Amino acid sequence: MNILVINCGSSSLKYQLLDMDTETIIATGVIERIGATMGSITQKSNPDKWPDAKDTEDILIPDHEAAMRLMVAKLTGEDWGVISSLSEIDALGHRVVQGGEEFSHPVLIDESVIKSIRSYVPLAPLHNPANLTGIEIAMELFPGTPNVAVFDTEFHQTIPQKAFMYPIPMELYTGLKVRKYGFHGTSHKYVTKAAAAHLGKPVEAINLITVHLGNGCSMAAVKNGQCVDTTMGLTPLAGLMMGTRCGDIDPAIHAFLAKNRGLSIREIDALLNKESGLNGICGMNDMRDIHAARENGDTNAQLAFEMFAYRVKTTIGAYLAIIGGADAIVFTAGIGENDEFVRAAACEGLEPLGITLDARKNAIRASGIRSIGVVGSSVSVLIIPTDEELEIAQATVDVVNG
Ligand code: AMP
Repeated sequence: MNILVINCGSSSLKYQLLDMDTETIIATGVIERIGATMGSITQKSNPDKWPDAKDTEDILIPDHEAAMRLMVAKLTGEDWGVISSLSEIDALGHRVVQGGEEFSHPVLIDESVIKSIRSYVPLAPLHNPANLTGIEIAMELFPGTPNVAVFDTEFHQTIPQKAFMYPIPMELYTGLKVRKYGFHGTSHKYVTKAAAAHLGKPVEAINLITVHLGNGCSMAAVKNGQCVDTTMGLTPLAGLMMGTRCGDIDPAIHAFLAKNRGLSIREIDALLNKESGLNGICGMNDMRDIHAARENGDTNAQLAFEMFAYRVKTTIGAYLAIIGGADAIVFTAGIGENDEFVRAAACEGLEPLGITLDARKNAIRASGIRSIGVVGSSVSVLIIPTDEELEIAQATVDVVNG
């Protein structure tokens, strides 16, 4: 079964065509700067066979419809084509960021699902409209082919009410649905299943702390295979420190900035989303640059690194308390998978809690799942490369097969 996974962002479109009978990638691509004066498309065809080969073209992409048409043209065209006709695609899986309280599982998309996704636009004003555009154009371009929505929020729908509520007037929850939703759910779900398989335990019996550290960062507490808490909230601004996002801060900082700097709500929102986090502290948001700067004695880079790891460590402590002990801590995504320094700093001093990193294993760069804890410690430490596209494709197959 060939599944096309679509991830429509506000100005980008990522796609991946997978053969789910063999779980191999047929093509993976990204279209960037949609709506800008000049955009680009990059596609890797059969990346398992030719991991280093990719095709790129600079091209004007006025809107998402043009982007979807370009993707189709490239997948089937003479130059980069990997299939001869769209009928070779059996179903499409769409990443949808916000599914509210309604969706705890992937669903086959019909008019009522589209209406629901639209009703959650106020909760995800940047993402859900782009996701919807991708869905609606896909339905036009692939008539009769099933479309499945996989929600970023669905894995977190098992979080109990005492953990997802904010201590603000009840009416804001009942009337506006202001609550913690959590994001990166597909990634947390994927690594949960992979960790259970790796540790030889049924998913229903696995207890984990999953640590997704990429451009966006979030953690999840997983008890008996179900998410019981996560760090992101109503929006992806909450929780850990991120590349440009502040994570948790005193909410009174908003009023303080408005009063003392005369900033509008919109300006404060932009400041906390785009000018904060690692970038706010040291002017860099890529951990590789930060390490290079630390080596050169940049004290702000050192501080940013320490703050970043500190928040991961304090959340590990909190989540161990919630779960009552974990089978494993799982690091994933760009920083989680690649950055030995962040992993070491986040786990440093946690030996009394049963977490002991093996410094040698932590420093080895390798692909695939690996265990980096000292053998015999009560909590394993794992690196599991996340694969959100595969998770969406698997969910799509499951929904289509009923
Ligand atoms: P993701 O959102 O999962 O693609 O992660 C992107 C982030 O991963 C980048 O902003 C980098 O900071 C980080 N990253 C990627 N490779 C490395 C690496 N080798 N060492 C440290 N950080 C990395």
